Amino acid sequence: MNYIYNNKEEENKLLDRFCRYVKIWSESDGKAADAGIFPSTERQWDIAKVLVKELRNLGTRNVYLTDNCYVVAKIDSNIVEPEERKKYPTILLMAHMDTVDDVSGENVKPVISMLSASESPTGQDDTIVKSDGTTLLGADDKAGISAIMAAVEYLMNHYEDEGLQHGPIEVMFSPDEETGHGMDKVPLNILKADYAVTVDAGDEGELEAECFNGWTAIVHFTGKTCHTGNGKANGMINAVTLAGEFAAALPHDMAPETTEGFEGFIAPLEINGTIESSSVEMILRSFYTDEIEKEKEIIKTAAEKVISKFGGSYEVEFKQQYLNMKAKLDERPEIMERLEKAFADAGVKPIKQPIRGGTDGSRLTELGIPTPNIFTGAHEFHSRNEWLSLNQCAKAADVLINLLTQKVK
Ligand SMILES: [Zn+2]
Repeated sequence: MNYIYNNKEEENKLLDRFCRYVKIWSESDGKAADAGIFPSTERQWDIAKVLVKELRNLGTRNVYLTDNCYVVAKIDSNIVEPEERKKYPTILLMAHMDTVDDVSGENVKPVISMLSASESPTGQDDTIVKSDGTTLLGADDKAGISAIMAAVEYLMNHYEDEGLQHGPIEVMFSPDEETGHGMDKVPLNILKADYAVTVDAGDEGELEAECFNGWTAIVHFTGKTCHTGNGKANGMINAVTLAGEFAAALPHDMAPETTEGFEGFIAPLEINGTIESSSVEMILRSFYTDEIEKEKEIIKTAAEKVISKFGGSYEVEFKQQYLNMKAKLDERPEIMERLEKAFADAGVKPIKQPIRGGTDGSRLTELGIPTPNIFTGAHEFHSRNEWLSLNQCAKAADVLINLLTQKVK
């Protein structure tokens, strides 16, 4: 069934909602987040407060804004009969409120174009929203927030309609997803969901249940400093050279710029140092845990080679960031089956693909709430060309309504 898609009034409401949210500056700050500031920017409270107010206005009874800037709302089931109510699980819907700090998200001016099938990048009559080209649009992930709000609003407004019985719904809008810290302070204690869905993917149909295993690695090199004029006589070992040689020794066919699909990579991100000491920071990515172990070995071997050639010493630190959620989701195959049915019911063909990154969902899956990710209708994330297909965003909302109203027993 379609409820929002192809329904002029509902689509207009969705469009208004989306444009309202993208105008609220809510950029996060990666450096501040890494330094332990949470949320990383004060401005994320601005959108959080708007969403709390709007959720309350929809008539949801329990809406919370936590001390760490998570918006959580609980919507009761509209089913009176307790036995019947048990047939609908509690589902958590999630999207993130921040936008990435690579491109400015301040003063976004959404530009709306109604395009015919021949003009539209989606190949059908569609309303396309872009920024004016000076900022990002922020459809990542305000399209996800909008789809969730539209689905909840529709269900609240049609609580007596045949076929729209639903179980308890939890909604969470989180800060700092883009900084990788989105689940650092997640209020797990107040969530009761059987499973969750993040609404944070792109093109119509995208359904993601698999992401990278993410690790960081830092190699520290120690050299031997002395007056450079006497470097040879005094056995100077230049840690800057060690770092450079090390970065060059990493296999180029395992770099982000040479890999795709299910291939993993090692990406050096930053080199720092002096003659005395230097460090190379990297991220390791792979869908497979054994490949991560191989990547760790490659790093150690490369560092050892450099040391045996130039002298000095090294130490390496590895840290896990997130895990591929596939193993945990495979233990609950019914979740993907229900989602696929919800897609089909909304007339959307699922495109199952791996996420070449991590999501809040992967962290939440690790914490015990299985969380696949679905499309939002947003495209060209993190760029000034970012755009939204209103048709697709409306279909994302429809997928959610179909999922929430699906009887499972
Ligand atoms: Zn996102």
